[in-house]
This record gives sequence, structure tokens and C-alpha cells, in this order.
Amino acid sequence: MRDTELYRHLLGLHAPWRVERVELMVADGRVDVWVQHPARTRFACPDCERKLSVYDHCEERAWRHLDSCAFLTYLHARPPRVACPEHGVRQVRLPWAEPHSRFTALFERLAIDVLTACDVASAAGLLHISWDEAWHLMDRAVTRGLAAKPLSVPNHVGVDEKAAGKGQDYITVVSDLDAGTVEHIADERRKASLDSYFEKFTAEQLNEIQAVAMDMWEPYADSVRAHLTDADDKIVFHRYHLMGYLTKAVDTVRKQENRALAAAGDSSLASSKYLWLYSAENLPARHRDRFAALRAADLKTARAWAIKESLRHFWSYQRRGWGAKHVNRWYFWATHCRLKPIIDAAKTLKRHQAGLLSYFAHPITNAGAEGLNSRIQAIRVSARGYRNREHFKTAIYFHLGGLQLYPTAP
Ligand SMILES: [Zn+2]
Repeated sequence: MRDTELYRHLLGLHAPWRVERVELMVADGRVDVWVQHPARTRFACPDCERKLSVYDHCEERAWRHLDSCAFLTYLHARPPRVACPEHGVRQVRLPWAEPHSRFTALFERLAIDVLTACDVASAAGLLHISWDEAWHLMDRAVTRGLAAKPLSVPNHVGVDEKAAGKGQDYITVVSDLDAGTVEHIADERRKASLDSYFEKFTAEQLNEIQAVAMDMWEPYADSVRAHLTDADDKIVFHRYHLMGYLTKAVDTVRKQENRALAAAGDSSLASSKYLWLYSAENLPARHRDRFAALRAADLKTARAWAIKESLRHFWSYQRRGWGAKHVNRWYFWATHCRLKPIIDAAKTLKRHQAGLLSYFAHPITNAGAEGLNSRIQAIRVSARGYRNREHFKTAIYFHLGGLQLYPTAP
């Protein structure tokens, strides 16, 4: 088999396209393949499919293709243009690549698989592409996926704010809690951020939304009230949000107490921050002894932690009445503990009690939303190199959007 014929097979080319020339540059570790069509070939107008003769050719372009063994492989061609009486002069569709891509469709598929499996820097290294090219690929995949995604109304919507960069830079992430997919991302965490999601739907479609799980954040609640009927019955404060809130209060107590103790030369609480962040059953075995000792000591932090853990029993009740009773008892305890951060957190919770008790009407399981939440966090961590908010959004859609990312088969 001649090398041109071999490459016609490797590239999956069909008539009229054929391989004209193959150049192997061993020192550079690359193969260049030139592809051409016979004279007088007729091509379809990309808009109306009318078969037309070639009007002219664009400048030669190169597309990165799957490697041939360890050789980087580039396909070269001059894309023909046709002059359609209806649509004007248009570049014809090329069977190996989507318009405006610097990669063949087969390479894009591989790259998407690699980018799905590892972080951007590693993927770029494995694929021998630059960081910018990797982002370009992800952007294209997401744009393609979002364009193809049918509009569907989730029954259970999750709304989260995520820190997107330094300081007060936030994005709003809307998810379908049943499908476990991210449906919408908007800048900031204002009412308008969530409005932009609801505005995609008709009033009738919005009626299909049964519950919205979110943090105790008024702008989001306002948006739900502006778009959904019986909004207050549909707003559910999520367990991990509420527990996160209490965990933060425990941490504030710890910081204050540690400072006071350290000033008196007592280092009991030193380096204990992460111990208090675990829930009881998730504490790693190696920390158990120290943590047991800390809890037994007469520490404000231990008291705050016990109060936080007690709130968790709320979600184990089957009936609203019992759940409400637990919250009342808990509130009494929490507001009498003489720990200001805990008292403040308890009062906020009490103010939003309706959104806590609505859990019994919409017992949304924690797993979906929390899982999604921690995956977004992982994307953020693996991407210390995200240089901007747009990259962060792209990566969330890429990994969690439930999108069809591959280029369509030519
Ligand atoms: Zn046309």
C-alpha cells in the first residue's frame, strides 16, 4: 500500500478527497499530509446543498489530526469555495473538521475524552497542544453542546453561589437536581442572576418546577417569588447549606477561643480547625483520640460543635410536626449557649424556618446537590490556573452540563 493510500484510510477520507502527498519529518516528530480533490469536482453550497462548481480556493490551512504512532500529524488543504446564486461565495463543508476548528473531528473527539479525564494542564501535555488550544477545544465543545441541548424544565432546581475568583467575585449555578446536571450559569449572585434562568421558560413551563433548593440568600428567594406561584412553599433550604452555615459559626467560635487560649499559653486548640469541620461519622480514624479529648475538655468550641451536630437530627424525622418540635428545642438550646456566632446563626435560621420545614413537602435528598457542589469545588481546585471566570464557567458546563460535547460525525 502506498503511503498516500494508507493515509487516506487513516484519515477516513472519501471521494472526492484524496491524499496527494505525505511528508515525514523524523527529527521534528511530525507527519504532514496534503489532501486535495480532482479538478472539476462539484461541491454543495453549505446553506442550500445545491451542487456547484468550484469558484476558488482559500489559503492553505492545517488541521491537527490524531497522531500517527508518536508523530504529530497535520492535515493540509485549501478549502474550496462555491458561488451560490442565492447565498453568495461560501466555503464548502469539509468532511474532516467542523467549520473554524483547528483540529480534525477525530482529534477533537480524542481531546474531549482526554479533557474529560484529567485537568487542562495535563490534558494539554498529553495531547501536545497549548493551554489556549485546550481551552479553545473546551469552549467549542460547550458551545456545541449548549446549542444542541433541548430546553427542559427540572422538577427540582438547585441554586448555588460559587466564588469564581478572588474576593467578592461570584457566579450563580442553577442545576437540575434529579438529573444531576448544571443547567445554567450566570454572573454574580443577584436576583437578576437567577432571573436570567427563569426567563428562558414560559409561565406554564415554570409551573412544572416543584421545589427550588437554595441557600438562605434573599436575592435568590426574591427571584423565585417573582417567577413561581406559591414560591414560599417551593423554597427549600438545603441541608448542606444550613449545615455549612452552622459549621462556619463553629469555626468562628474556634478562632476566637483559640486566640484567647493561645494568649494565655494554652495550645489545646492549635491546628484543630479541620477536626471541627467534619461531621461526627466522617472524622478520620487517626484523629479520633485527639478529637474525643477535645470534646471532653470544657471548650466553647466543643459546645458549639455539639449544637451544630444536633441540628442534623432534624433531617432524620419523618413527620413535619416532629421536625418542627426538634427545631424549637434546638433553637432554645442554641440561643442560650452564650456563644454569639451560634446565637446569630440560630436566629437567622429561625427567621427562615419556613424554608427549613418545607423539606417535609419536598424531601430533596442531599446527595445530588452536595455531590454536584463538591464536584464544582473540585473543578475549581484542579484549576488553580483558571485565569478567568469564563474558563471556570466553561469547565463547569464541560464536566457537569450533561452536554453532547463531540463534534457531529461529518
Ligand atoms: Zn446556497
